[in-house]
Amino acid sequence: MSQWLPIAELAAKVQAGELKATDLVEQALRTIDEKKEYNAIIATTAERARERAGSIDAAVKNGTKVGRLAGVPFIAKDNFLVFGAETTAGSNILKGFEAPYQATVIERLENEGAICVAKANLDAFGHGGSTENSDFGVTKHPRDTNRVSGGSSGGSAVSIVLDMAPFALGTDTGGSTRQPASFVGCIGYKPTYGLISRHGVVAMASSTDTVGTLARSADDAAYVIDIMAGRDQFDGTTIERDTAGYTGVGADMQGKKVGIIKEWMTTGVHDGVKACIDTIAEKMKAAGAEVIEISLPSLPLALAVYYIVVPAEISSNLSRYDGQRYQYSYPDAKNLDESYMKSRGIGFGAEAKRRIMIGTYVLSSGYYDAYYNRAQTVRTKLINEFNDAFKQVDFLIGPVAPTPAFKIGEHASDPLQMYLADMMTVAPSLVGIPSVSVPSGEADGLPVGVQIMAPQRADRALLGIAKAVEGLRA
Ligand code: GLN
Repeated sequence: MSQWLPIAELAAKVQAGELKATDLVEQALRTIDEKKEYNAIIATTAERARERAGSIDAAVKNGTKVGRLAGVPFIAKDNFLVFGAETTAGSNILKGFEAPYQATVIERLENEGAICVAKANLDAFGHGGSTENSDFGVTKHPRDTNRVSGGSSGGSAVSIVLDMAPFALGTDTGGSTRQPASFVGCIGYKPTYGLISRHGVVAMASSTDTVGTLARSADDAAYVIDIMAGRDQFDGTTIERDTAGYTGVGADMQGKKVGIIKEWMTTGVHDGVKACIDTIAEKMKAAGAEVIEISLPSLPLALAVYYIVVPAEISSNLSRYDGQRYQYSYPDAKNLDESYMKSRGIGFGAEAKRRIMIGTYVLSSGYYDAYYNRAQTVRTKLINEFNDAFKQVDFLIGPVAPTPAFKIGEHASDPLQMYLADMMTVAPSLVGIPSVSVPSGEADGLPVGVQIMAPQRADRALLGIAKAVEGLRA
């Protein structure tokens, strides 16, 4: 049992003066402190959180209106610009960086009274699926500390399962919210590309970057998404929110058409993971859904496309860390060239360098057509195949990852093995559709999520089906 009430109830109690924001913040900070061994948190924002809680409690006492998230603590992945602690993005190169402004989503949550209590661990710049690429050490799995928590939003996901806060923010560029949610057993929601502003979030790959939500239930996720979603003048890719909002969604399976993705249920997938997805599909049928098999023939190419397009964008986005404008700068450089080379050479970790090299290569003249352009062509093909699939079904389902949480170090020396673990999460990112990981069962005694996908902008419907699937678990 969680020590946190559902978010809507929690806020209502703070608004009514039955619970104090100060007590909720202390409860969050205490839990963070008690569970340090998992290394989910890089830093707390305790001082600022306590101040904000104090002013919310004072407002309630004075009868001033407080927001829809009054006093609700949350944790932000350390690639969100937040006041009250450094923003490192998990990388040494940004150590000591103080946000000059806050991310739009942080502002929107704070305007409704939410209180950020800590910054969560991640693979540096979001590059990875295990948090082993963090310069702050690996985040450990809540059930088995010899295993990874997934990534890159591993710290955010673990913070939810270990009850440190009612919700956490992650980012999802190719699975980073869904995969850790699947590994540790919580909801991990990636919205339609553009639904939630990325202004003030450290960029990884701009054509797939999204803000993810980690929560204990689909209702909690929907409540928070409802506050964050919609246009932002500072992020030109943002889209209008659904006029119906994202809360109060139904949870009915009756009459829904669901496609189980054929290419993800074949070789290379752990039997226990497959069994979880099959069981959920059976339960969906029993609850009134029509479940059919759907084939997306280009799907096996998605991983290759992702690992061309995404490093290309990374190599461009990371060029801003040049030792001149942000944080780490090599102190003894004799000229500008040496400053660039030493600052980046010392500041970036191995994975960032690997991606910069791949990205620079695929974008270089002579190789651009062979790699980058070809990858974009296949990306379009993927988009068309998903569009065709959604003419036949309302939702697609499949595994989130081919295996449950793996051991720390298991893939660390082999980047290709690590990349292969992303084979099911990258396609929805390339296509820009919303996708959620919902706890579905267990394999080898570890949590396993089911991935559910919907057409672009069908986030409201997707949150509804996530809630329905949650109900099938019992
Ligand atoms: N694991 C994937 C990668 O390393 C996804 C990362 C992400 O979504 N930030 O690229």
